[in-house]
Amino acid sequence: MGLLDRAGARLTSHPEEAEILIVNTCSFIDTAKQESVDTILEMARFKTSGSAKRLIVAGCLVERYRDEIQKSIPEVDAVVGTGELESILEAAGLARPQAIAVPGLFNILSGSGQAESRPGKESQAGTHKANQPAFRAEGDLREQQGRFRRDDWQGATHMLPTYLYDESTPRFLTTPKSSAYIKIAEGCDHPCTFCVIPNLRGKFRSRRFESVVAEARQLVARGVQEITLIGQDTTCYGEDLGLKDGLATLLDALASIEGLRWLRFLYAYPNRITNRLLDTIAKHDNICKYLDVPLQHASPAVLKTMKRGAGADIFLKTLEKVRAAVPGIALRTSFIVGFPGESLLDFELLQAFIQEARFDWLGVFNYSDEEGSGAFSLDAKIPKRTIEARKRRLMKLQQSISKRAKQQWVGRELVVLAEGESEETPLLWEGRTQFHAPEIDGKVYINDFAELGPSVATLEPGRFYKAQITEAHEYDVVARIVSGPL
Ligand code: SF4
Repeated sequence: MGLLDRAGARLTSHPEEAEILIVNTCSFIDTAKQESVDTILEMARFKTSGSAKRLIVAGCLVERYRDEIQKSIPEVDAVVGTGELESILEAAGLARPQAIAVPGLFNILSGSGQAESRPGKESQAGTHKANQPAFRAEGDLREQQGRFRRDDWQGATHMLPTYLYDESTPRFLTTPKSSAYIKIAEGCDHPCTFCVIPNLRGKFRSRRFESVVAEARQLVARGVQEITLIGQDTTCYGEDLGLKDGLATLLDALASIEGLRWLRFLYAYPNRITNRLLDTIAKHDNICKYLDVPLQHASPAVLKTMKRGAGADIFLKTLEKVRAAVPGIALRTSFIVGFPGESLLDFELLQAFIQEARFDWLGVFNYSDEEGSGAFSLDAKIPKRTIEARKRRLMKLQQSISKRAKQQWVGRELVVLAEGESEETPLLWEGRTQFHAPEIDGKVYINDFAELGPSVATLEPGRFYKAQITEAHEYDVVARIVSGPL
């Protein structure tokens, strides 16, 4: 979007107004593929009706079904994979990339710049080319073992994406003006057998440390006050750059940026939560006391087949360590139900673990049988209705855990970021505390700000207030503003 904006395109989220339609897709599980295809078909109608001239499909679906998309949906004019972002301009017919002055992108296209400025390192698979990132030895080894193979995907190219953006890549923010995401790394070298993300996104590679810090500074200068760091595995950050405790060091540097109120990272890998990382979260006031650690399961047998290892006992110790190091921390996780061979006993173990672990936020995914994943060839597939029933049971269990936990919040005074009027009713405002990550966790509904005085008719979106929690529901809480903006 940043590239298109810089090239002179006027962006709109109303397809009926657009000349060029771009569908950014996802394809890591069945429901994501379905949603992507449905959206492409919906947009294709604007092209057939003549209101739009061009339809482009971008993102992960392209990495997987590159040829298939255009063959099956002839309205599609061009596809842009995750490793060729800069070709969006050509695809849109706006300009050839060479004609657009976008520093940094030239560098990537011509094979100099960002990739060369990374520490030189010989890959185990052979000397890496000048315009390729230096991957971790683990990634190179996994590649040799076939981890990233796309042979099963008809129409996919064999080239894995190697792209990384940098601080000079233009960005167009679609998040509320106070919040932004920063991707600090791309790809993943883990061998999880249910997951095709490494096949889609390629080997793990980190953005340069200075580039992330520079981007964060730019965002804060633009008014961003909350930054969420993302990547397929944020806790691996910097390993390919030769950094020890890369994520903790990065958090230290970012936390010192003046004006940055909230900083958090998502998607920690469980066995990479180091003491140094926890100490870093604990010591900075502006690092949110929040940890998202997807555990996927709790039964050692299932986790072993998933090639993730560990189990309930080890996880409970990890959670204990986290809670001791960062008192009051909010914990989020996600699980997969219905992985091939998941017995009733495995499932009961997972339930018992959830009961004991008391997560603040929890997501449950149904196992999706993906061609190209290690688990695809496993026998003992679980019927869909059993998977659905297991998911419902876990969600019900978490509902009661969450309700009890949220009741403990009543009476507490917390800093809340006001986000805007509620989508449900203009009588309520919505906000978040540091214990809620953007978009995924519950909400704080604000129903009273009379304390701010008779002259205050409304709250200001993107500003922080002190609020007292007055009611708790299953996932959401209600609050009244006591002072602010802070
Ligand atoms: S760590 Fe996450 S992205 Fe990487 S293979 Fe495992 S589930 Fe997939």
